[in-house]
Amino acid sequence: MTSAPVASPPGDLSIASRCEPIAPDMNAGPLSAAAAAATTRTAGAVATGGLRWRSGFASLGPAFLTRLRPTPLPEPCWVARSVPAARELGIDPAWLDTAEALDILTGNAPWPGTDPLATVYSGHQFGVWAGQLGDGRAILLGETDRGLEVQLKGAGRTPYSRMGDGRAVLRSSIREFLCSEAMHALGIPTTRALCVTGSGAPVRREQIETAAVVTRTAPSFIRFGHFEHFAAQGRDAELRMLADHVIDRHYPACRATGRFGGNAYAALLEAVSERTAALLAQWQAIGFCHGVMNTDNMSILGLTIDYGPFQFLDGFDPRHICNHSDTAGRYAFNQQPNVAYWNLFCLAQALLPLIGEQEVAVAALESYKTVFPREFTRRMAAKLGLDEVRDDDHALIDGVLKLLAAERTDYTIFWRRLSVAIRTGDLAPVRDLFIDPAGADAWLRLFSERHAHVPRELAADSMLGSNPKFVLRNHLGQQAIEAAQQKDFSGVATLLNLLETPFDEHPGFDAYAGFPPDWASTIEISCSS
Ligand code: AMP
Ligand code: MG
Repeated sequence: MTSAPVASPPGDLSIASRCEPIAPDMNAGPLSAAAAAATTRTAGAVATGGLRWRSGFASLGPAFLTRLRPTPLPEPCWVARSVPAARELGIDPAWLDTAEALDILTGNAPWPGTDPLATVYSGHQFGVWAGQLGDGRAILLGETDRGLEVQLKGAGRTPYSRMGDGRAVLRSSIREFLCSEAMHALGIPTTRALCVTGSGAPVRREQIETAAVVTRTAPSFIRFGHFEHFAAQGRDAELRMLADHVIDRHYPACRATGRFGGNAYAALLEAVSERTAALLAQWQAIGFCHGVMNTDNMSILGLTIDYGPFQFLDGFDPRHICNHSDTAGRYAFNQQPNVAYWNLFCLAQALLPLIGEQEVAVAALESYKTVFPREFTRRMAAKLGLDEVRDDDHALIDGVLKLLAAERTDYTIFWRRLSVAIRTGDLAPVRDLFIDPAGADAWLRLFSERHAHVPRELAADSMLGSNPKFVLRNHLGQQAIEAAQQKDFSGVATLLNLLETPFDEHPGFDAYAGFPPDWASTIEISCSS
């Protein structure tokens, strides 16, 4: 898997499909022009929660968004809050104890200084052009003067809701909240989550559930699908505005570099390819399966975004499918690097009117094929406690992945036990993980030989800092969710505490780092959220 060839292009770079825009739903409640102006006038005047707002995505203009207000929810309550996320945002965590914050972050009261909106995008879903999508339930409140956008997910219908109700249920909101913060703590680029608020308001999914709102933050929520939207309609002026916005704010080096003869749009495609490759390398190394890698769920900043049926692998099965709706396995764990490349091709196709030459776009994508294997190898070497990669280390990496796949060995526990074994010198707890020890012994011999010349303490530190003790396993999330559905939010808080420092030992909490129970494999998580 280390150097698996990436997929061949999904097609040539000409625009293959055209978007069929849907008619906006006028019941979604866009603000009147007067109300929008009134909201705008307050910009910068008040600093509720300690935040000051500046013009961000909204400055792109009406072709990109619809101004609107969140739809209130009855009797909101706090479900979970992240103090580190509050600090990053610049919010005084004490403000999160106020009734004002609860109302604002549920969408029941306006955040003074903000100018809420929903953005329009399109995308390929499960490999098929899906046409117009957009923020159907996420409302962007604005951008802070520290350059972080704040979004309320599940805050009501928008013109892009299509058949949806604009809501998010408690279970999926808790999963997104916990996983965002867990990924951040693991050092994996991600959107973050400030809090979850809940309400008793009923939401119809397979069953009747209750509503929740996640407050998410990121430097930008722009997706590949934003570019595809304008490209598919041949709207080159808007396409250029969007690309210029992204370059100016997030990739300024693309204008300075001499790469591609000063073609900043090709440089952007290359930079996004590199970040996406680096992200995928981290997902594969940690054992994270995203589950819905549609192009509308691909961040232009290379962040993990839109947590749906994701899963951290329990037993190591390269072909694991975590999304119950993904019957064909398009987004199986071992397909993710290829799918990311396929998605980058869609982005390249969308950027082609700006880049100009097809050959230049293809050249810009090439970086993915070098960055992904290099970064993946680097991440795996760190897991193995190696501070440099030698030629024969590739065999060590391939060997361990084959070994783990052969017995579906628990991925997180294996790496943690191996890390501890380097410190103690006792490999027995690692060997115990295998039914057939012969294969394990053969690999452990190679591993030990490789470590003969690596200082043990250094290696142990590196491994214990690369191989987490705690990850958000499905069954852990499920237990916390079931308690939360009975209004006991302590399980969410406990998990958050562990996942915020996943490399620490947390004495007394070993049960959260143990093998999944048998029922874990029966948990079915689909796109329904
Ligand atoms: P997702 O699969 O969550 O990434 O969503 C794909 C598209 O469907 C996006 O445009 C979402 O905004 C939209 N969507 C998903 N769930 C809902 C919902 N309950 N209400 C409105 N739009 C939704
Ligand atoms: Mg999405």
